[in-house]
Amino acid sequence: MNEYLKNADKIEFVVTLACTGRCIHCQNGDPPACSPHLDPAVAAEAVYGICGEYGIRTVMTFGGEPLLYPRTVAAIHRAARECGVGKRQLITNGYFTRDKERIAQTVAELSLCGVNDILLSVDAFHQADVPEEYAAEFALRVLDAGIPLRLNPAWLVSRDDANAYNEETRRIVGRFKALGVLEVTGDVIFPAGRALEYLSSYFDENTKGSPYDDDPYDVRTVSVGADGETLGGNIYENGIVDILRSYRPE
Ligand code: SF4
Repeated sequence: MNEYLKNADKIEFVVTLACTGRCIHCQNGDPPACSPHLDPAVAAEAVYGICGEYGIRTVMTFGGEPLLYPRTVAAIHRAARECGVGKRQLITNGYFTRDKERIAQTVAELSLCGVNDILLSVDAFHQADVPEEYAAEFALRVLDAGIPLRLNPAWLVSRDDANAYNEETRRIVGRFKALGVLEVTGDVIFPAGRALEYLSSYFDENTKGSPYDDDPYDVRTVSVGADGETLGGNIYENGIVDILRSYRPE
């Protein structure tokens, strides 16, 4: 076991950076004109390899919009379930097609592959580009399928702050709650990516930075990028077990 990874208990996959949204708070920065996406079989192999070495308790898929590539999402979560990973999460904006039949098929695939925690990003920022109608259709299908679903809005300054974005977010959240999505979590926006450009007037010296930065000497989350990069290696070029064993903090 690599001592720098001995506490690793989570794997995150950026399935793609391609997205249907162009949110002004996006912490990935400007959406790329084109983005690679992870190959389903290669990503699943990484899950098997990492889970064989460490006690992984959570596997998360996100993006970009991960459901632009549902086969990759399904392959990752199927592998996670086979490895006994308890928490299998997906973050999505719910908008990956306007075809309602395809929404239904995708939700059926999510149900079969074992995703058990869907976080739906709905708020004033996402709904500037993501038509609420399609995100709502997705939410209703997920509820019908019995997959646990939470609303995951982005709050500006704090969850309780009374700025105009939060007020609009509260209205949107209320409409999704009326559909039957009762649990609401969400994160406070931190200064990174496009938020630095478009929302800088809301940040001051008290604003907290990213809560997701890992200590390179005590990595808790193995993060795999849309291009396969992870821990100084690449799952398309190196075996994941070799990457895990040879990782050293820079
Ligand atoms: S949906 Fe997510 S990844 Fe896409 S632009 Fe919005 S914040 Fe960024």
